[in-house]
Amino acid sequence: MRPLTDVMHEAKLLFYSKRFDDLVRTFCMNPYGVVVKEKHKDFCTVNGHSFSTKKSNNTNFAILASTTFTEPFHEPIAYGRYIAKLVNLLGEGIIVQRLGDLLQGRRSTAERIKKGSVKPTLTDATAGDLSFAIPFRYISDILEMLEALDKIVPGVYSTSTLLYGAEVKFYSMRLKLTNNLETEVKNLFAAGDGAGITRGIIHAAVSGVVAAREILKRMS
Ligand SMILES: Cc1cc2nc3c(=O)[nH]c(=O)nc-3n(C[C@H](O)[C@H](O)[C@H](O)COP(=O)(O)OP(=O)(O)OC[C@H]3O[C@@H](n4cnc5c(N)ncnc54)[C@H](O)[C@@H]3O)c2cc1C
Repeated sequence: MRPLTDVMHEAKLLFYSKRFDDLVRTFCMNPYGVVVKEKHKDFCTVNGHSFSTKKSNNTNFAILASTTFTEPFHEPIAYGRYIAKLVNLLGEGIIVQRLGDLLQGRRSTAERIKKGSVKPTLTDATAGDLSFAIPFRYISDILEMLEALDKIVPGVYSTSTLLYGAEVKFYSMRLKLTNNLETEVKNLFAAGDGAGITRGIIHAAVSGVVAAREILKRMS
């Protein structure tokens, strides 16, 4: 990943998949980082981070495919949870699979992963088969994106690339805000992920500045 991460620590790349025309994007890119388990109340998902002092040999990032459901379905959070729980059920937690095994339609095993050139940074993930738990639509979106990404970062679409699942983002809560991020309650502002308007560190920080500038203006 260095051709990309040496230039830009966290590249945000957007892609429209050919088969489904879904918006697919990279998220949470962590050069020399580690994959981590994100614990929710009754299931776990995948996330990742980099340390400022410790470096791994890997770069990890998420690939997210966005879905907006149409009538009559309006339970996107339940849907995301369901997928995460299905992965947990099959893998007793997080599942890790080599890209090469997924493409060959077979599960990964601990032995196959050991043979690969990429060493897992999340060591308690279960080697398995993500295609049993993640809908075909998302598997297809992810594979198309990785294949496209291989043109920018040759090698990313290789047998040893490790895929961890599932990463699920829940973004349906959104407060009603003005352009200055004021809520419907006068002089009450909301910024960052909690307000449902951002999904990452930079945007959350910028949204804080937007709200702070307006508050300062009113105070002076
Ligand atoms: C493991 C992980 C990895 C991530 N990696 C990336 C990445 O690589 N790149 C990226 O762009 N984004 C990443 N994100 C997302 C990013 O961290 C968030 O988008 C960002 O932190 C949101 O900032 P925020 O200030 O809105 O909220 P937060 O950072 O969540 O801050 C909210 C704060 O409010 C505090 N709080 C909550 N409730 C109360 C209360 N009742 N009273 C007082 N304080 C309270 C919390 O303790 C917390 O400190 C990652 C997230 C996780 C969990």
